[in-house]
Parts: sequence; structure tokens; C-alpha cells
Amino acid sequence: MLAGKKLVDIPEEPIHTAKKGTRYLHTKKIPILDDHGEPRYLLGISDDITDRKRADAKARKAADALARSNAELEQFAYVASHDLQEPLRMVSSFTELLVRRYEGQLDATAREYVGFILGGTRWMQQLINALLAYSRVDSHGKPFEMTDLGGVVDDAVRNLRSAVDEQHGEITHERLPMVSGDRTQLIQLFQNLVGNALKFRGEAVPRIHVSAQADSGRCTLAVRDNGIGIAPEHTKRIFKIFQRLHGRDAYPGTGVGLAIAKKIVERHGGRIWVESQPGSGSTFYFTLPEPRRTAGATL
Ligand code: ADP
Repeated sequence: MLAGKKLVDIPEEPIHTAKKGTRYLHTKKIPILDDHGEPRYLLGISDDITDRKRADAKARKAADALARSNAELEQFAYVASHDLQEPLRMVSSFTELLVRRYEGQLDATAREYVGFILGGTRWMQQLINALLAYSRVDSHGKPFEMTDLGGVVDDAVRNLRSAVDEQHGEITHERLPMVSGDRTQLIQLFQNLVGNALKFRGEAVPRIHVSAQADSGRCTLAVRDNGIGIAPEHTKRIFKIFQRLHGRDAYPGTGVGLAIAKKIVERHGGRIWVESQPGSGSTFYFTLPEPRRTAGATL
């Protein structure tokens, strides 16, 4: 090392200490030359990278586990689409055949039972479709591009037009930033949140407001409503797949919308949460990286 007369960079050097066990150092060593240009001393600077190295290893392990669970989910989606849908189609098509063929011979109770069977198969088909959509967030996502969130919200509201008109909903948004993201998925995300805000309305006309706040390289989006609200003990579990707080008779739905929203936000490197009180409306927040410039309008 000395003979080379050059700076030596050792990115990772294990050392054994009595007190703290093995530590890892990033070390730079440079020879100090004498009057004849020959190396005489060795000057070294070391940076203890043990904690960073452990944190990196932990993050890698978590990322590996996530990749594994995503792969398993995709496998499950394949099973759901092929192996579950086919028998389901058999049940519904043979039930329909039965009704057509033996129509005159079925009494009211039998017809009622047949109605339950067909309702059940339709419901199961909806659950399978929702599960497929959930499992495809990662595998079918598009590359990120600079996206104007103002336009994204406008498109989401346009897709919800019939529900907005039906509920006489008022939807407004502030100036919203540009973000790097998958436009189609961001539309889906706002559609799920605004759709829920319309669905879980209270007595008053639904008023929904979308706002954004930029903060050191990320922005926090908020979708606020004046609906029925959510009890604090449920604010975490509603983001899990198939978790619902009401029966299907009270409010239709599969319980997958917020799980998809969470997956989309996480694919974009953000997080999602809700602040709410029963009877006082809800505000769903999520973060996205890199706001750039603003653009917006009132819908
Ligand atoms: P779904 O809408 O199909 O029931 P979601 O996953 O979108 O499924 O939502 C899960 C549950 O969270 C809902 O069933 C509802 O109980 C609650 N929830 C979601 N959004 C709101 C909201 N804006 N106001 C009140 N409750 C909500």
C-alpha cells in the first residue's frame, strides 16, 4: 500500500472490538511522502458504517419479503382467474338452465332459492374481479411519468359523473401539483376515495374537497368529505382487503377499494391514512414524492 504512493479506498473493512463486537469501517488511507518522495507515514480516515450497513440489510430483507409476497399474490390471482371462475360459471349457467327447463315445475320457494344461488354467484364474481384488480396493481402498473394531479382529479370525477349527479355532490379542488406517477392508477386512486366519499354520505349533500400541501420533496394530498365518518378504532383495518364496516344492504361494495388505494400509494413510495370522527366526515390523506409546479381549477 505504501509502495503504491496512492490514496487507497477500502469501502468496507471489518474490525473486531472488545466492547462492540465486529464493526465495519469505510476507510481511506494515504501515504505521506518524505523529502525523497518515499512513503514515510500512513494517514487514514475511517467512517463507522456498521449502523448504515445493518439498516441497508434490513431494508433489503424487507424488500425481498415484499417481492416474495407480491409474487405469491400474483400466483393467487392466476388461480383465482382460472381455477375459481370456471366452476363458478358452471354453477350459474346450470342454475339458469335448470330454471329455463323446469320453470313450470318450480314453486315459489324453489324460485327464491334459485334467486339466492344466482345472487351468490354474481357476488362471488364481483369479489374475484376485485381481487384480480388488487393483485394487478404491481404487476400491471405502467412506468411513471410527470402527471398533473389537477387533470387526474378531473378525470376521476368525470368517471364518477353518474354517482355525482345522483347524489348532487359538490366536488372542488385546489391548485394541485405535478407528480411523477402512473396516471391511470392515480385516477383509480382518486376515483376510489371520491367514490367512497359520495357513497358514505350523511344527511347533508356530499361536499368533497381535494387539497395538496408540499413539504420538502413530497406532497400530501387530502380528500375531505362531510359524510358519516369512521370510528377511530376502525381507521387502520379499513385499508385491509375485504374489510368493511357495514352490511351490503346498507352500502354496496366489496371492501377492496381502499386496499387498492393503499397499494397504489405504496407503489408510488407514499403512505395513506385517514382522520375521522363518526358524524363529522372523514379526511383521507396520502403522500406522493416530488411536487413540481401547480395547476388547478374548481370543478
Ligand atoms: P367498499 O367501499 O367497497 O366497502 P373500501 O375498501 O373502499 O370498500 O372501504 C372500506 C370501508 O371503509 C367501507 O366499507 C366503509 O365502511 C369505510 N369507508 C371508506 N371510505 C369512507 C368514507 N369516506 N366515509 C366513511 N367510511 C368510509
